[in-house]
Amino acid sequence: MNDLKRLSNCTICPRGCGADRFSERLGYCGTGAGFDIGSICVHKGEEPVLSGSEGICNVFFTRCNLQCVYCQNYQISRNQGEIVSYTPDLGQITEKIISIMDTGIDMLGFVSPSHCIVQMKSIIAELHRLERHPVIVMNTNAYDRAETLKELEGLVDVWLPDFKYMDPALSKEYSGASDYPEIAAKSIREMYRQKGAALYCNEEGLAESGLIIRHLILPGHIENSLQVLRYIAEEISASVHISLMSQYYPPEPAADHPVIGRTLRADEYERVREEAELLGFHRGWMQEPESSSLYRPDFIRDHPFK
Ligand code: SF4
Repeated sequence: MNDLKRLSNCTICPRGCGADRFSERLGYCGTGAGFDIGSICVHKGEEPVLSGSEGICNVFFTRCNLQCVYCQNYQISRNQGEIVSYTPDLGQITEKIISIMDTGIDMLGFVSPSHCIVQMKSIIAELHRLERHPVIVMNTNAYDRAETLKELEGLVDVWLPDFKYMDPALSKEYSGASDYPEIAAKSIREMYRQKGAALYCNEEGLAESGLIIRHLILPGHIENSLQVLRYIAEEISASVHISLMSQYYPPEPAADHPVIGRTLRADEYERVREEAELLGFHRGWMQEPESSSLYRPDFIRDHPFK
């Protein structure tokens, strides 16, 4: 089926709304069929194999198919109401990406594109038509259909999924998706089928192909983090690259939350780090516990991460 036609009865992501995204009656993600962009910018705060010294060019689509109450990108990710957004055409998008690539950055990341897979594919196709072939990184919340990810085999070079929850009550409460654990597990198993555990890097140490699984540790929910790590070790592989993130901070909408309205304590981080070691994870990155002050984007600025 023509890719655009799929948006008139959208089942791109596991929500399976069947929405006509060309109409006013949008689906759960609140996203139409065009290009709604929060930012296209250089980001230096990713894992060293992605950022290198110059950073990665990241494309942030607006809205999202998960609505995490603690989303640090909430200025652009809410599925209803006013958000920071602009609507360039395809030519303007590729022009901006190429202007960043021309500064020496050859890594292109798509951030939370699960509801914009069709748009992401057309951006990549247009870049290829212009004979530009950056390393494509898909930074996804993992609330994806495995069948959709299969279509992207050979197009996405580096899978960068979050694995947020193994506890369905938590995923329901915080992200509005009680089926997140099973969906994310299936999606990440599909990424692993495509790439295995190896991460291939060029001579400058920048990733060219592979899988990196991120996990953001939530304050007060250490057991969930331990379950996620156990699942990866037992059902996928302890040889995959993992990125344990301690950067959580409560953004405005979660600032007064009784459990997650605070940053992570050092003892909580330590417990998760210990478990990762016990389980045999030996590849990847663990953020320093004080990193919560370092990663606060502001999408109202032209450069959200500066
Ligand atoms: S991408 Fe949006 S409209 Fe399509 S199924 Fe998912 S939430 Fe619904």
